[in-house]
Amino acid sequence: MQSKLIQYITDLVAINSVNPDLSTEGQGEREIAQYVHEHFQKLGIDTKIDTVQGDRCNTTALLNGEDSNQILLMNGHLDTVGIEGMDDPFTIRKDGDRLYGRGTYDMLAGCAVQMCLANYFADQSCPISLAFTFVCDEENKSIGMEHLVKSFLPSLSSKPFLGIFMEPTEEKVGISHKGYNWYELKIKGLAAHGSRPEQGVNAIFPLQYALETLDDINKKLSEKEPHPYLGYATLHPGLINGGTAQSVIAAEATLNWERRTLPGETQKELDQELKQVVEAVESATGDHQVFAKQVYSRPPNQSKEDPLIRMLQEATGNESYSGMSYWADSALAAQAGIPSVLFGPAGHGAHAIDEWVSESSVINCYKSLRNFISNFQITIS
Ligand SMILES: [Zn+2]
Repeated sequence: MQSKLIQYITDLVAINSVNPDLSTEGQGEREIAQYVHEHFQKLGIDTKIDTVQGDRCNTTALLNGEDSNQILLMNGHLDTVGIEGMDDPFTIRKDGDRLYGRGTYDMLAGCAVQMCLANYFADQSCPISLAFTFVCDEENKSIGMEHLVKSFLPSLSSKPFLGIFMEPTEEKVGISHKGYNWYELKIKGLAAHGSRPEQGVNAIFPLQYALETLDDINKKLSEKEPHPYLGYATLHPGLINGGTAQSVIAAEATLNWERRTLPGETQKELDQELKQVVEAVESATGDHQVFAKQVYSRPPNQSKEDPLIRMLQEATGNESYSGMSYWADSALAAQAGIPSVLFGPAGHGAHAIDEWVSESSVINCYKSLRNFISNFQITIS
């Protein structure tokens, strides 16, 4: 199985699956979805490619187990981030235990693990049903996972009892991750000659009050009780724009910030923070106008530490759980009522030029999940 696992990672990395919305090098996930689809076809497992839009595709497969109503959802994303600055991103380079290449760690190794689990359980009876899912676009807007929630999940005979998302977690069971909200604040003023500021309304000066307030909020967040696995909620200004020339009083300025959210924080609390920023800018001297809104958001995820998750934890050999700072598609499955966790291999360099995954860790992940699934035999009987 070890050599097959490495072969699948090598094949997956060799297919360009750069997200086309993040880089001009991207071609969409059709080719890689096709490769995965053929793997399940060869095993005789019911499989389908779903076109989400254009060449953005998901692949799904369903292996019917002894208990067809107990379905375990497994998931991986097929897309990777860009390859700028990398020498040979689509060719695996082995250095000791490290397998270098774009997407090895985040998260084609996780996809290869699913393919190997299919090999194993295709040949013998499987106590539960396995829904193997591979989605596009996780690195951008998650159109693949949204499509899966709308089209594939409702087609199953029952709702999966658990979702395992094979993002890189250093072999820990990630039972929580943060969410995020994006905000935009626009200030409108009036342009004027730089030598006659009294004839205009400066849109840039009031930005300082927005930044000051955000800084205050951020400090307060770091003084709250930390989440046991995720620490503190944070925020940061990510984009700032304004003005047309140095000699002109700026007629417009915008500020965009991101707020990383924790499980349990309410929309009301978040709205209150936005209101605080808006009020600070509005009360600044001048006739400027202020427009602000939340432009995008993704929820955090927190699974209960119940016996099922403990069973997974035991199968992985971990003594405790973990939280992931990054957002993942698992939040969308959780929103659809499927308790979902993250579990994947160790490595380094997600979204960086020196990305690698640990070969021995990928093998451990495969064995852990194989044992977890096999153990249901004992649970059911
Ligand atoms: Zn990922």
